[in-house]
Amino acid sequence: MAYLPQIIFGIVLVFGIGFFAKNVKRLSRNIKLGKDVDVSDNTQQRWKNMIRIALGQSKMVVRPIAGFLHIIVYIGFVIINIEVLEIILDGLLGTHRIGLKFLNESLYGFLIGSFEVLAVLVLVSVIVFWIRRNIIKLKRFLSNEMSGWPKSDGNIILYFEVVLMCLFLLMNATDTAFQSLGSGNLISQYVAPLFSNLPESTLVLIERSAWWLHIVGILIFLNYLYYSKHLHILLAFPNTYYGNLKPKGQFKNLEAVTNEVKLMMDPSADPFAAADEDAADPEKFGASDVTDLSWVQLLNAYTCTECGRCTSECPANQTGKKLSPRKIMMDTRDRLEEVGKNIDANKGAFVDDGKQLLGDYITKEELWACTSCNACVEACPVSIDPLSIIMDMRQYLVMEQSAAPADLNNMMGNIENNGAPWPFNQMDRLNWAKEE
Ligand code: SF4
Ligand code: SF4
Repeated sequence: MAYLPQIIFGIVLVFGIGFFAKNVKRLSRNIKLGKDVDVSDNTQQRWKNMIRIALGQSKMVVRPIAGFLHIIVYIGFVIINIEVLEIILDGLLGTHRIGLKFLNESLYGFLIGSFEVLAVLVLVSVIVFWIRRNIIKLKRFLSNEMSGWPKSDGNIILYFEVVLMCLFLLMNATDTAFQSLGSGNLISQYVAPLFSNLPESTLVLIERSAWWLHIVGILIFLNYLYYSKHLHILLAFPNTYYGNLKPKGQFKNLEAVTNEVKLMMDPSADPFAAADEDAADPEKFGASDVTDLSWVQLLNAYTCTECGRCTSECPANQTGKKLSPRKIMMDTRDRLEEVGKNIDANKGAFVDDGKQLLGDYITKEELWACTSCNACVEACPVSIDPLSIIMDMRQYLVMEQSAAPADLNNMMGNIENNGAPWPFNQMDRLNWAKEE
């Protein structure tokens, strides 16, 4: 039975990673429910964007305090988890601090000491984040869409991080062998005296408990990601890579419709000039449900951090309209999850549930409140494009349902009949120049 802890550790690890792999598979399947879109262009620029925005967090620092704290948590969390490698090796091989076998004491001490300092910085940052959410109650964390699960999710993840960092420090503080090294215990040396009166066996028990809880906590955290806005820890990278490279404000045109318009304006134009595959008449114009959106838009939905930077910059939201670009992304994700569960429950085939993104999640009122200003796209720290979803859904309303607001219908009628948005005949255009 000497190997029992290693066997238990192996089983826990396999289950933890196995569930995570299952969730990744489900995530990938759901994202692939979106329509195909070609994002193979300009790979150099895409890599640059990913490194600058996701790795360098360049858009986070637009708001310096939140940006700085976020960078500490991000770096701290990633670097401290290097320690997990050692934990996994120790767990599987039955060793204790195997890193000391490969590194000399001073380098090992330097690494663990750095992790301890980072752990404290993460703790401080996380406490500030908690205060901003729960005591100061920043406006962008309080809107309607942030009640219920999204609110709890924001806090749960903070508690998770506090517990994991405390377990890491506790594990080091109660490890008498590590404390006796005399290096690497930069922070834990101040925690260790709290336990100095305890017998060695109790210290071992506390250290082992903290060690186990630390690794189990990390595996739980890994599996929690799928259900949380914190999926952005992983998805920010592909999302920024596949982000829109076109100039902001350039809308996607339907080739088939553009061709028709060109022919109407110039009947001598070659009707087959742009008749490639993309120019074929689409089965449906615009989007009424998640499966009408592209896979990049669905990836956007899973990547949303629910930070609300988009909504706080949105002029429609600021002027009291019902629109919140954050809610557009959260609704898209919720509906996508619903569709995914439907497919799982029906052996791989979607069975019509009588619902769709339009109407059941996102209302026409929200869609028509958008000024298409792009402020939400500009503000998003992970290159999400809520406007593209709004425009696709509007396209559906206009082209499939003829359900544009009356003012817009009048304007479009005028453009069709008069070649201008105003209700005046083209023949009267130069009336202003005539002498009285
Ligand atoms: S593009 Fe629309 S949703 Fe985005 S900020 Fe402007 S008004 Fe708001
Ligand atoms: S779309 Fe971007 S800015 Fe808006 S809440 Fe999501 S992550 Fe934040």
